[in-house]
Amino acid sequence: MMRTARLSALLLALALLAGCAPGSREDTVHFTAMDTVIQLSVYGCDHGEETLSEARQLIQELDGLLSTTDEDSQIHALNQGETVALAQPVQALLERALALCADTGGAFDITIYPVVRAWGFTTDSHQVPTQEELSALLARVDYRQVEPQGGTLTLPQGVELDLGGVAKGYASQQVAQLLREEGVDCALIDLGGSIQAIGSSPDGDPWSVGIRDPRSDSPEDYAAVVRVTDQAVVTSGMYERYFEQDGVRYGHIIDPDTGYPVDNGLASVTVVSPDATLADALSTALFVMGRDGAAQYWRGREDFEFVLMGEDGSIAISEGLEGSFSLAGEQGSVSLEVIRR
Ligand code: AMP
Ligand code: MG
Repeated sequence: MMRTARLSALLLALALLAGCAPGSREDTVHFTAMDTVIQLSVYGCDHGEETLSEARQLIQELDGLLSTTDEDSQIHALNQGETVALAQPVQALLERALALCADTGGAFDITIYPVVRAWGFTTDSHQVPTQEELSALLARVDYRQVEPQGGTLTLPQGVELDLGGVAKGYASQQVAQLLREEGVDCALIDLGGSIQAIGSSPDGDPWSVGIRDPRSDSPEDYAAVVRVTDQAVVTSGMYERYFEQDGVRYGHIIDPDTGYPVDNGLASVTVVSPDATLADALSTALFVMGRDGAAQYWRGREDFEFVLMGEDGSIAISEGLEGSFSLAGEQGSVSLEVIRR
């Protein structure tokens, strides 16, 4: 009797420690934040609903701090030239983002905002700026001008921040941390195609994450699937935001060297990494670097893998994905290249 009681107490303690073991129960929420549709699902969690509501609150808080357009956000205040005592998540993200700007040699540059706005991507009233206008704006683009001083930041005149290339990854990383602290070990966080998988899927296999066919208008059309456990899969796609003028397509990812939307034959870049913030910044940066630059950059690091999809339908993957990547459907004719170290 004693033994049984002790055993069940032990089992109970273990169950509490383990928190949410994969099982039949599924809790999901959908909502819109960070300019995108968000879906969070946790599996086998007896307090799933409360956990998801905390996660939703966290995303809304981050959105409220990081948005460029929300007039109450810290980024908006900074962009107005105000001195801001940075909230802890803003400070942490800013430091990380600045390090990634430096590491990518400025291919990723969070001071690109004036240029993004000149092309009309912030308001959806698109236009092609003049060369003079772009040259003047590019003088204001340089992440090295952003120097937080012990948690406080004032931007130099004319410098404006845009964390849109990294905020969703950061938010999904923060949500993953919250869920893990709540004992969740099986979940899928989807911030508008920026995916973070926790654990493996409820049936015990890796999660299958679809990578959208960038040449299709439908977000449901996948060109490939990558199988992951405890990893983020973040895609930057030309299709997310673009406009056409005089037969030319202008996308929302800007080359900080020229001020022009990237036009290098890539249609989408996916980065796979346990670190969602890294994956998000790099999905944008590798897009700017192009196929050869991306491959070279990857050879210098060990913490991510990538999938490049070309406008011509070609696909290249880094060799670390060889065992977990597959083409979707009838893709027999697609040229698949494996890039090696
Ligand atoms: P993503 O979808 O993560 O690639 O982010 C794209 C967004 O990042 C754009 O809509 C811009 O707000 C911003 N952006 C564009 N070009 C760059 C760049 N070269 N470096 C950093 N952020 C950028
Ligand atoms: Mg990104």
